Amino acid sequence: MIVLKTGREISLMREACLIAAGALKAAGDAVEPGVTTAQLDQIAGDFIRKQGAQPAFLNYNGFPAVACISINDEVIHGIPSKSRVIAKGDLVSIDLGAEFNGYIGDNAATFAAGEISPEAQRLSDTTRESLYQGIKVCVAGGRIGDIGAAISNYCESRGFSVVKEYTGHGIGSKLHEDPSVPNFGKAGRGTRLLPGMTLAIEPMINQGSAAIRLMPDGWTVKTLDGKLSAHFEHTIAITADGPLILTQL
Ligand code: MG
Repeated sequence: MIVLKTGREISLMREACLIAAGALKAAGDAVEPGVTTAQLDQIAGDFIRKQGAQPAFLNYNGFPAVACISINDEVIHGIPSKSRVIAKGDLVSIDLGAEFNGYIGDNAATFAAGEISPEAQRLSDTTRESLYQGIKVCVAGGRIGDIGAAISNYCESRGFSVVKEYTGHGIGSKLHEDPSVPNFGKAGRGTRLLPGMTLAIEPMINQGSAAIRLMPDGWTVKTLDGKLSAHFEHTIAITADGPLILTQL
């Protein structure tokens, strides 16, 4: 069931989303060689709690941290650890959510630890831009398939591949609501986009093949071929005037 939000509900959600965005920026600003992923998680958690909000991922389905932090060939759901030290040239994806006012904001971005390879930079830039290509078509009257088509066309035309097993999602008082928002699809197909829909759009894009594997920790998802992956996400609202990016600072 898709829960449409009123303008007032979207305003409340915006506050949760701004906290999530601030936490992502704080953790992202701290990415550098020598820092552990547990330290980044601590920074994100401190930021969220200081605003009177709650980390939305902590204990969600048993996830043990504030943020998912996934490095290089890790696609998503990496678990922060004191023993995981970021190295120069790493591509560090941070995904986190905050709950405030009874609503949740969810966002992700990929950060560079020092200087990264040109190919890593191109993957990251392409993934970020594909998120905006997907958001651009989040207009009332469109279809869910428009979003995935925009994202996959953009990335595949640049030689990258789209992870299919994990998708964006509706979001609101729950972290994951209907509908699911695949990063692939056919334009003009799928659920009709309506004003009041709030969606987390989140392309997960691989440098090599789209194939992934789940690690024995039960959370971390890696590329099967060991090549790089990047991840960007915004929570957005569809309004009569077009898409509103709620996690934009
Ligand atoms: Mg999400």
